[in-house]
Amino acid sequence: MLVARDKVVLIHYTLTDDAGVVLDSSSGGDPLAYLHGQGNIVVGLEKALEGRQVGDKIDVRVTPDEGYGVRDESLVQQVPRRAFGGIKKIEPGMQFHAQNAQGQPQVITVKRVKGDMVTIDGNHPLADEHLNFAIEITDVREPTAEEMAHGHVHGPGGHHHHD
Ligand code: ZN
Repeated sequence: MLVARDKVVLIHYTLTDDAGVVLDSSSGGDPLAYLHGQGNIVVGLEKALEGRQVGDKIDVRVTPDEGYGVRDESLVQQVPRRAFGGIKKIEPGMQFHAQNAQGQPQVITVKRVKGDMVTIDGNHPLADEHLNFAIEITDVREPTAEEMAHGHVHGPGGHHHHD
């Protein structure tokens, strides 16, 4: 079975920056499971995996515009502390998951806390970075009906949720 839209793909991956520093890796754990063509992973990596098959090993260099984006200073904003609702302790370096205006997942990082104002940065921590992936495809399968309905994979390497 080839990697194509709406297939479940399992990959082992190692992500390094241009200095060779390992940023993330599935090594030693479950492979990452994602639903192809649904934006579960960065678009540059999806493109590189399209049409590949189990056992393929590929090295992919993803540019920022097809990775975690080009840095946008307008995403650095000051918001009042009360915007964080019930969270009492807000410190620089804390990260929150949110959605942007397009409904895409967005990571918000707290940059500075001064008095009642919090400076947040909506740029992904890996914005502006080239992403160097070493990939091995370990499985390609059909999704379950539930996975298709949710737009992501369940079980090992995928999402764990829904009580
Ligand atoms: Zn789900």
